[in-house]
Amino acid sequence: MQTTTDPKTGDRLSVLGFGCMRFPMDAGKTERLILKAIESGVNYFDTAYIYPGSEATLGRILEKHNLRDKVHIATKLPFQKCKTADDFDRIFNEQRERLKTAYIDYYLIHNISDLKAWRHLQEMGIEAWIQRRKAEGTIRRFGFSFHGSQRGFLDLIEAADWDFCQIQYNYMDENYQAGRAGLYRATELGIPVVIMEPLLGGKLATGLPPKALKLFKEAAPGRSAASWAFRWLWNQPGITVVLSGMNGEDQLEDNLAAAADAKPGMLTEAESAVFPPVVAALREAYKISCTGCNYCMPCPQGVNIPGCFAAYNTSFVMGYVSGMTQYLTGTGVNHPEKKHGARNCTQCGACVKKCPQQINIPTELKAVTKRLEPLWFKPILWAIRKFMG
Ligand code: SF4
Ligand code: SF4
Repeated sequence: MQTTTDPKTGDRLSVLGFGCMRFPMDAGKTERLILKAIESGVNYFDTAYIYPGSEATLGRILEKHNLRDKVHIATKLPFQKCKTADDFDRIFNEQRERLKTAYIDYYLIHNISDLKAWRHLQEMGIEAWIQRRKAEGTIRRFGFSFHGSQRGFLDLIEAADWDFCQIQYNYMDENYQAGRAGLYRATELGIPVVIMEPLLGGKLATGLPPKALKLFKEAAPGRSAASWAFRWLWNQPGITVVLSGMNGEDQLEDNLAAAADAKPGMLTEAESAVFPPVVAALREAYKISCTGCNYCMPCPQGVNIPGCFAAYNTSFVMGYVSGMTQYLTGTGVNHPEKKHGARNCTQCGACVKKCPQQINIPTELKAVTKRLEPLWFKPILWAIRKFMG
């Protein structure tokens, strides 16, 4: 496993980090995967207070196998849940209990999007709290994870003496959110950058339209789409760790193979030239940039927002029949009582602020309804409920 050096601390970090947002459903499989990742040199694990069951699962496995000292744990403060400074301690202590650790290596404010939010945290006393925690050794590094505009990132990165930051970045998002300009500015300031969403919620691994897949295959037969996405990142200087939400051994092995020769400048000119037409093919195919993060859920009306968007996108990428099948069978719209379909959106707007991708969810759900709930939809739904239970 290649490692990079945290320029601020000298920590040696594996270039491939383990994103713990969605572990496999099977506890044994999760355990085997984490053990294999550590055995293969992965030493950076990224979780968060709000990822369901994630901190507790990671803590249990590390404790059971006595591996705490072999890894760096990154987890995040859900600052929207903090009304007073006492909440920082309450949540932090709960996290340490879940993770079965006295200290957190890399602690982030979760999903902060602008200077205003940081100013509010300053007024609540977050800087004194961090200083106290660092002095007692319970937090080793302090940073933030970011989903916002490039301007917001450029303001935030200058606003404090950050130990590190975490941004969404991949070949589709080169100029979106923090983007390349954000990465460069952080690097100039000597701030390590951790990358999240390298595969855009899996789209860049398993959801490429046929045109994009063909371009990659012609350029390097046998190389996976995920590997292309990782290589695009590691090709650039300034990237410290790339997180991958691996949930199978095949994915872990594929990611490890890509990480084996990770270094800036690893792409040839011909390889770099493949990306612009791939990006164009993806832009043409994907209508809604939902990553399936679930931050917008639950919807008070029961709408399965990410499920609706996934089916809608599938209807363009893989064809209308595939999208409609996914909508009917994979989103819960066929549930006899619950109202998971796009049509049930009342346009209340409660979800809009929660979306890190700044998707206008109510408007897009109207588009989903129009495309995936045509006139003949109700009789089909009735038949599915009657004959398929
Ligand atoms: S706008 Fe629609 S999808 Fe969003 S919370 Fe309201 S009802 Fe749910
Ligand atoms: S709509 Fe936004 S918040 Fe909801 S799952 Fe998609 S990307 Fe996440």
